[in-house]
Formats: sequence, C-alpha cells, structure tokens
Amino acid sequence: MRAVQVPEPEGDFEVVEVDVPEPGPEEVRVSVDACGVCHSDAFLKEGQWPGVEYPRTPGHEVVGHVDAVGERVETFEAGDRVGVGWHGGHCFTCEPCRRGDFIACENGDVTGFDHDGGYAEYLTAPQETLARVPDDLDATAAAPLLCAGVTTFNSLRNSEAEPGDLVAVQGVGGLGHLGVQYASAFGFETVAVSRGTEKRDLAFDLGADHYVDSEAEDPAEALTELGGASVVLATAPHVDAMESVVGGLGVEGTLLTVGVPGEPLSVPVQPLVTSRQSVAGWPSGDARDSQDTLEFSSLRDVASMVETYSLEEADAAYESMMNSEARFRAVIEP
Ligand SMILES: [Zn+2]
Ligand SMILES: [Zn+2]
Repeated sequence: MRAVQVPEPEGDFEVVEVDVPEPGPEEVRVSVDACGVCHSDAFLKEGQWPGVEYPRTPGHEVVGHVDAVGERVETFEAGDRVGVGWHGGHCFTCEPCRRGDFIACENGDVTGFDHDGGYAEYLTAPQETLARVPDDLDATAAAPLLCAGVTTFNSLRNSEAEPGDLVAVQGVGGLGHLGVQYASAFGFETVAVSRGTEKRDLAFDLGADHYVDSEAEDPAEALTELGGASVVLATAPHVDAMESVVGGLGVEGTLLTVGVPGEPLSVPVQPLVTSRQSVAGWPSGDARDSQDTLEFSSLRDVASMVETYSLEEADAAYESMMNSEARFRAVIEP
C-alpha cells in the first residue's frame, strides 16, 4: 500500500510503498477513505513528541471502513464505517482507566504517534478506539470531526456554560469553524472572535450571534460589553490571541483552551480571584465521545468545510494547514 511517512524528526514527508498491516487479535484494519491534517501533526513532523519511533505515518482524523478484524474482535465486522481519532488506545488498568477516564490513561497511545496513522491507504487500530460513523455523513467532510470536531464538541459540552450563556470562540479556523457551529447548536449566545472582517459573514452563516474583529476593537472590551463570557474557547495556538480575550470573561468565566501554543500563557491573577475565573484546557475525547460528536453533527447538520488532497500532496496539505490558509481543514483522500 501507499503511505506517507515522516522518516526522522524534522524530516520531509515521503510517500512509500509498505506492506498492508495485519491487525492484532484485538485490532481492526481500516481502509482509509479520508484523513484530516491537524496542527498536532506538527509535533510528529518537527520531532516535538516524546517517545516516537521513526519512520512514522501521521494522521488522527480518519474515516474509513473496516477491512479485516482480529480474532478477538466481536463488535465490528468488515464493511462497518468507522472513525479513528487522536485517542489511540488505553490500558484499562491504570487509575484513570479504572474510573473510565480513558482519555487520561497513563499508558495511552496516540494515533499517528505511537502507531501509524491515517496518511495511508490502511491503518490498524485497537478496537476500543473506533467510533461508528453515521451513514449520512460524507467521509471527507466527517474526517475532521475525529479531532477538531470532538475537541470542540466535547470541551464545550463539558464546560459550565448553559443554554443562553455568552460563549465566545476565539479563532475561526480548523477548530473554530466547528466550535462556532457547536456553540450555536448547544443554545449558547455565540460570539466569534477573529482578526479582520474576512470571516465575518461566514461566522454568522455558521450560527454566530455576534462577531468581534480583534483588529478593529479590543476583544476583551467587546465581550465585557456583551455581558462577559461564561466560556471563551481558545482554538488558535497563539498566546497573544488567548491573552487578549481573558479580560472579557464574566464572573466565574473560563478561558478554555484547546489550541496548544509553544509558549507559556501569562494572565493577570487578580480577576481570577475576585471574579472566580479560571484558565483551563481540554484534550479531545475517547471513541465514544467521537461517536457522540459524529451523531450530533449528523442530527444538527454540523459539517466541516474542507479542501482535499491526495497522499502525494500531503506536503501541500500540511503547509496549507500550518500557514492557516486551509479553508478550513485540509483532508487527504488516499
Ligand atoms: Zn488533532
Ligand atoms: Zn490506562
């Protein structure tokens, strides 16, 4: 089969011919229909993730169908439509796993880091990492829901925000354009915060009630004028952008970050104390969270906007994502 590999840390993508992988006893083999390109793939490509053995095939936004199953797999069979996300397996025995908190597993695997991911015609995945994909979802449009989607869906649904609360989504890109749709569908008074006016009309189309151009006005002041945000979901991996919205939190407001900048975040502590505010983060979710995301997206017509690439164009897909040029998620169709 054809697969894209990162040969070594900071190496260029290479398209290689490798053997089709055989599933282990509790694994399935997935024939990949589409795989999204995520900003976190940069950790692999730039050699910033501990413990990775190279060469490695990236990709953790996979939609495909089951091609073969291991001898102890009973709940999936050939032909089933499935998705594979960031969460690449858990041990079932550590303390978080014993409490069912699989995403916090101390020995967990990450798809495309600890084993090969979806920039390939096939991958194998532990059965506990598979989400079922509703029939009506297009594979290419659904692929980003396995990371960008579940991350925004799951962080917002687990936040303290309630219907009617003011919720801002900072950044209208790969994650943010989904975050705006989920925030709106959850019944929040939804604010999209982005630089410039380019994404204004789109933000309203996606369900935003307000748009804040962070170049034309101070986003913290704008959010305060709207009453103060219960949650600001920070999706862009930029410290400056995150710091610029903290002052727009209301009482008990939370800066909830799912974007991961390389530098530390600096925030004033006094408002955290006087207004009981918090700064928090959220990972993605486990397979059932991914399936919830897919089912909700089907129910409420939440979809990602994608541009598509072949395996051979993985470089271009990656560059488009890294330069924030992708509108709004780059997806590889092997
Ligand atoms: Zn991701
Ligand atoms: Zn565990």
